[in-house]
Amino acid sequence: RLDEQIRHVLLMLEQQWRGKGLEIDLDLPEVVIFADQQLLSQVWINLISNSIKFTGSEGTIFISIRDEKDITVTVKDTGIGISETELQRVFDRFYKGDSSRNRSSTGTGLGLAIVKKIVQVAGGSLSIESEKGEGTSITVRLPGGSA
Ligand code: ATP
Ligand code: MG
Repeated sequence: RLDEQIRHVLLMLEQQWRGKGLEIDLDLPEVVIFADQQLLSQVWINLISNSIKFTGSEGTIFISIRDEKDITVTVKDTGIGISETELQRVFDRFYKGDSSRNRSSTGTGLGLAIVKKIVQVAGGSLSIESEKGEGTSITVRLPGGSA
């Protein structure tokens, strides 16, 4: 159950998003998914942690599941965003954005590289949209189960 998995990750990270006063907006229909639960959880942990880390207090994180031909999960935030030049590099190993370096935020820059690897192994794909100062939206597409 993909929806339960995501809710579980949100509970694990609750102190962090509550502590920052972030709002969480969910659209999580029931979806069964056949994939390694541990690995897939790492994807949600990394994406949601990034949204928490790069969103100022009182921002919002939207998480939605779409169960169509493929299953897609979108994690979208109203955070600091990523500039066009940085966008191409965020999936590189050890890459950390300028803004995160300046703010000396924690992290190794491995999170999205790991996400990319796991999604690839699961036969899926990733897309990212972001605008500096506006927010970021990352969509994970996974091969459809039921359809
Ligand atoms: P780690 O995940 O290893 O703790 P990290 O979060 O810095 O470190 P990644 O998750 O790989 O590394 O992300 C790479 C870079 O992409 C980040 O340093 C940041 O600049 C940018 N980034 C990732 N997610 C977001 C987001 N939701 N909003 C703004 N910038 C982001
Ligand atoms: Mg990260």
